[in-house]
Amino acid sequence: MREAIACLPIYHALGGTLYGGTIATNQEPEKYYGKGDSQVKALDDVSFDVYKGEMLVLLGNSGCGKSTLLNIIGGMDLPTEGQVLLHGEDITKYKDKELTNYRKEKIGFIFQFYNLLPDLTALENVRMSLPKKDVDHKGEKALESVGLGDGKMKQYPSQMSGGEQQRVSIARALVKGAEIILCDEPTGALDDKTGRKILELLQNIVREQGQTMVIVTHTTPIADMADRVITLRSGKIEKERVNEHPLDAKDIVW
Ligand code: ADP
Ligand code: MG
Repeated sequence: MREAIACLPIYHALGGTLYGGTIATNQEPEKYYGKGDSQVKALDDVSFDVYKGEMLVLLGNSGCGKSTLLNIIGGMDLPTEGQVLLHGEDITKYKDKELTNYRKEKIGFIFQFYNLLPDLTALENVRMSLPKKDVDHKGEKALESVGLGDGKMKQYPSQMSGGEQQRVSIARALVKGAEIILCDEPTGALDDKTGRKILELLQNIVREQGQTMVIVTHTTPIADMADRVITLRSGKIEKERVNEHPLDAKDIVW
């Protein structure tokens, strides 16, 4: 939210920066794929912070390193060199079990193709994020909060539209109270109208619940709804801007 950006110096003063993502060594963050001649440097000297309650968009062309970066923040991939700090703790030093817990508890992931389990209903997919007994009906409440009522909860992904499946995946990310929600091209598989509805939902989650969210996209207009935008090019940060007046998602056209 803009408030979070306004609070930025306070967060710094308190040491309250949530995530210091430094992806590499000696202050020169890097991520290589492969070895020798076939080596690809996917990220090079990428360093930035994410602030509590903001919507941050990482913008860039296909192949510029967006998914690699998101996966590193989410503890699904490790940088070749460098650090990823959450509340000052370097997750790249975690043992497997700690990293698994980090992914389970701290991170909500939303993918382009939803990544729902096909043999589970909408509600069962959401409950995957919860402890075994959901006595408080958190799963149902999360689905209702994304606009999916009783009629949809028992349906399987194959019985739902793309937009509905993405709503289920958003509920799955929300229900566990993650510190940060990471979205990798969340509208990439949707038509414009449905995509805009999903962006509205994501923006409301940030604005109304104070959720911290990072969205990666190659669709330039989507960046106008963000509180802050970091543009990547060929694995490097090209520029960074704060949107003083982020657009409402419903007004975005692409
Ligand atoms: P984006 O999400 O912005 O499209 P990626 O992070 O997927 O970009 O990829 C960044 C670069 O790293 C690209 O050149 C891509 O081909 C390369 N890359 C990504 N994953 C792998 C991998 N597992 N092995 C080899 N190269 C990879
Ligand atoms: Mg990608």
